[in-house]
Amino acid sequence: MSTVVDHWIDGTTVLGRDHHDIRGTVDNSVHVRVAVGSAKEVALATEAASRAAADWRWLDGPTRGRILRAIADRIREQSEELAAIEIADTGKTPATAAAEIEISAQYFEFYGTLVNLPVGDVLDVARDQHVYTKREPFGVVGVITPWNLPLNQAARAIAPALATGNTLVCKPAEVTSQSTVRLAQIAEGCGLPSGVLNVVCGSGSVVGEAIVRDPRVRKVAFTGSVGVGRAIGQIAADRLIPLTLELGGKSACIVFDDADLDRAAEEAVRAFVGNAGQVCSSGTRLLVQDTIHDRFVERVSELVREKSPGRDYGPMITWPQFRTVQGYLTEAHQSGLTPSVGGRIENRDPSSGAYVPATVYPDVAPDNKLVREEIFGPVLVTTPFSGEDEALRLANDSDFGLVGAVFTQDISRAFRVAERIEAGQIGVNTWVTGAVETPFGGCKASGYGREKGIEALHHYSQMKSVIMRL
Ligand code: NAP
Ligand code: MG
Repeated sequence: MSTVVDHWIDGTTVLGRDHHDIRGTVDNSVHVRVAVGSAKEVALATEAASRAAADWRWLDGPTRGRILRAIADRIREQSEELAAIEIADTGKTPATAAAEIEISAQYFEFYGTLVNLPVGDVLDVARDQHVYTKREPFGVVGVITPWNLPLNQAARAIAPALATGNTLVCKPAEVTSQSTVRLAQIAEGCGLPSGVLNVVCGSGSVVGEAIVRDPRVRKVAFTGSVGVGRAIGQIAADRLIPLTLELGGKSACIVFDDADLDRAAEEAVRAFVGNAGQVCSSGTRLLVQDTIHDRFVERVSELVREKSPGRDYGPMITWPQFRTVQGYLTEAHQSGLTPSVGGRIENRDPSSGAYVPATVYPDVAPDNKLVREEIFGPVLVTTPFSGEDEALRLANDSDFGLVGAVFTQDISRAFRVAERIEAGQIGVNTWVTGAVETPFGGCKASGYGREKGIEALHHYSQMKSVIMRL
């Protein structure tokens, strides 16, 4: 029996006229049928969000905050149900799902305490003027999310957008629509007024694009691939609406020979194996000082051999993604690269799951495709470097700039390198953290704008100045 998922618009379920069968990648069975949305449902949702905008925006802060914090509580109370949904949709491990649900709750808790925070200033400009600034919501915000951390990434955008007084039309990735619809229902049960949070299911090319083009939508927060981010950017440029773009990454982990190598090895593995490498902030380039490169990579490979797919990490979440990763591994094999662990998958029967073994390719040339392109799977490439300058040159020689990390005991070098890596978030002697308080987002092809932390509140609101003649 497969679950049927329909749209959630204006506080009620809107049945899809048609549904797509979604096949899970653990056993290839159809476990869910998702409503196929169209421009019609998008219009219903943006109209509902427009109607709800004034009341939500002007509802007093303490009440809005209480509703957001109630959503956090309810997510925790229903964490088992939500984790079961995520596991069914993605095959991720119970521990990973549980952690993502807890962080989803934390977004609502954190922003629920900050509803009145993005306050303005009083400016002393002249004797006969009283000038103040304040932040205002955009109105209707479109939120488009991918399939790798479904509820988590929806919550990351929804919570700060609601806290700043916007109303929303969300489009989860079609294959992982369930948890976002469930979140909207939970929010309604916590007193969120009807129409404030709407979810339209369906494909990106139809529903996603209709959201970006809808004249009622005043800002879009997009998480996903560079290609789609660029396409949305072109529409947004035409419409003159702001965007937050959280795109891909090819993040570097730099290990110097004075580092605590046991810790560095564990973190380097965590950085690329977590969620089977289907994380935008995965650490998929390992740069190691040449004096310890071979020894360190062997240590990393040993730790990787202890991990097994299905137990420590899940499958590729979609079959297209499985084929993409398989394509990279096959090409690597054909070009003569030899992995120290993992590698090409042969003759996979779909019913045995879209698992890709965590794979390490040592000492890969910096111009190799495996070094340059985001694979979005558990594949690590290593490159030796001789000193700090070369490490930084290699780290920054990338189209992307999402996150990075440096491992060293030399405190001055740690700061120097952290300051010079071109990326939005840097770990020192750790891979990057998931804390909701920490601003997150990239530079270069990794996108622009920031999610998380107080910083996100500035990206879901705009500044107004009021000048009063006294
Ligand atoms: P994707 O194809 O860009 O899809 C992301 C979302 O956009 C999905 O909801 C998708 O809908 C929708 N979409 C597709 N085409 C669209 C269009 N023309 N207009 C509007 N929306 C459209 O990305 P993906 O392949 O699902 O996810 C993997 C990528 O996302 C990787 O590159 C990864 O790095 C990136 N990512 C980045 C972050 C971050 O925070 N920086 C987080 C996670 C993932 P459908 O799929 O339903 O068609
Ligand atoms: Mg896609």
